[in-house]
Amino acid sequence: MRKRKAACQMDAGECFTPENPPFEKKDLAKKLEICGVSKWNMCAICRNEGGISQGDHVWERKRFIKETGYYGIIKGKWNTLPVCSACNHSYKVITLRDDTEKNIGRDDLTEEELKLVKPEDIKKVTMVSKWKAYVKQKGAVLRFRLTKVQEKYISDLNRRVMIFIEQEERNMQRFLQEFAQD
Ligand SMILES: [Zn+2]
Repeated sequence: MRKRKAACQMDAGECFTPENPPFEKKDLAKKLEICGVSKWNMCAICRNEGGISQGDHVWERKRFIKETGYYGIIKGKWNTLPVCSACNHSYKVITLRDDTEKNIGRDDLTEEELKLVKPEDIKKVTMVSKWKAYVKQKGAVLRFRLTKVQEKYISDLNRRVMIFIEQEERNMQRFLQEFAQD
């Protein structure tokens, strides 16, 4: 029952997702060019073909909301790169030469940090930062944050939904008891 209740909760991120510009053919071509692949179905990291469905979300939804309060855009194709499910997420976690860990989806590296990127990571760091720059240049966003008013609206709404569900559960219990007595 708890699972079903959770399913009735409104997803705050979905309700208030900002509208990005339409993702056009030339944007896909640019994405493939930046990722160095000839088609969407080729993983930009391991170069295997066929393991990609929706691709990897640059700004990750669940993980990064918890860490930063920012929601990743799910609608449309601005927030995805051609990366297979085996490479998904883990390719973004890198360790700099001074042993600090960075997530290149979440963190924009400073000039100083860029100098500390290990040679084997340079290609993917460049790929992700080039894509982020292109998205910005096109007036699109990968992430967004709710305003206090939006947050309050959603939590009030979800509280009302919960009260309604619990009331209906009690009604059903009553009905079942009366039915058993018949
Ligand atoms: Zn891969």
